[in-house]
Amino acid sequence: MIYLDYAATTPVDQRVLDAMLPYFRENYGNPSSIHRLGQKAETAIEEAREKVAAVLHCRADEIIFTSCGSESDNLALRGAAMARRNSTGEKWILTSKNEHHAVSKTAQQLEKEYGFLLEWLDLDEHGAVTLASLNKAVCNDTALASVMYANNEIGTINPISELAEIAKANNILFHTDAVQAAAYLDVNVEKLGVDLMSLGGHKFYGPKGVGALYVRKGTKLIPHQTGGGQEFSLRAGTQNVPYIVGFAEALRLAAEEREARTAHVKPLRDQIIGRVLEEISDSKLTGHPENRLPNHASFVFKDVDGNLLLQLLDSAGFACSSGSACKTGNPEPSEVITSLGYSRDWALGSLRITLGVDSTAQKVDEFLKTLPSLVEKARTLNHR
Ligand SMILES: *Cc1c(COP(=O)(O)O)cnc(C)c1O
Repeated sequence: MIYLDYAATTPVDQRVLDAMLPYFRENYGNPSSIHRLGQKAETAIEEAREKVAAVLHCRADEIIFTSCGSESDNLALRGAAMARRNSTGEKWILTSKNEHHAVSKTAQQLEKEYGFLLEWLDLDEHGAVTLASLNKAVCNDTALASVMYANNEIGTINPISELAEIAKANNILFHTDAVQAAAYLDVNVEKLGVDLMSLGGHKFYGPKGVGALYVRKGTKLIPHQTGGGQEFSLRAGTQNVPYIVGFAEALRLAAEEREARTAHVKPLRDQIIGRVLEEISDSKLTGHPENRLPNHASFVFKDVDGNLLLQLLDSAGFACSSGSACKTGNPEPSEVITSLGYSRDWALGSLRITLGVDSTAQKVDEFLKTLPSLVEKARTLNHR
């Protein structure tokens, strides 16, 4: 099997696994315990917090460990929106239809069940949130805006520091979902100027089931998981020590090796984009042609059933995706592809190829030799 789905998840780096292993059976203490075994676990968590803070250029006590990127998004939106309304009465939430469901569905629930007001920000033809749309949407009653750093389905990178500047000038909170971006882009929160930022371990060679939320000092959140006082009383529950250790090591390595990892995947990605557009008729690149994640190539093919194409690719030994992994088996085109303005005959035929550390020129070449005939086969079957 040739894996071309690193945006869905990545394998755990061996160095990350090595860092995690002692915390399963040797140093298994509860970080809240007074005894030495507990203190050892607490030290491991605080060291992990420092490591994450060093990458983000923030204070250690601005990092909240969570169970995943989705939970970080939930805590950011729900926690900040509710705290903000309590203190100021503001109830508008601004976000876009391109967000991961962890953000968009949370915003929709806050509107439907909790009395908030929701406005969708305009997107340009590459699926980016424009500065003009945020400027236009923000009003005296706006609590917060949430715009993802890089899109998981189409790879487009949003102008986060400029958007955050607009938010700051208008005295609203700004959250960014950096879950997909953190593998390749600079996540320095000082440069980005964000108040809240979500991360998830398994998108950058860390384990699944662990994430983090950056919360700028002074930003109030209402916790949505109540109980013990862990994580500064913002996220109750005994911390998952080995996973937190793994998360921090994976993020440290991602930052340390960012340039090398980018240099490895980018030419392969460019080769995929160039050859697919050249060799396959009725094919289009989705997302921004340049301002996109360096490991990310995404397309639509006219008159192709995207799920069928994925099955044909799977049978031929290639693991790809049609968009977000969560949407597998859903015959409707994704909101992200639809938001780009494609008609149904194009939007249903989306394909996402994402590269990573184990991608090679030879594997990419094998893929590119196979894909055109499978697209043709899917078209033939589609026309029956
Ligand atoms: C994967 C992903 C998430 C969800 O992260 P989990 O850790 O899988 O919950 C959220 N946002 C984006 C942009 C993602 O790519």
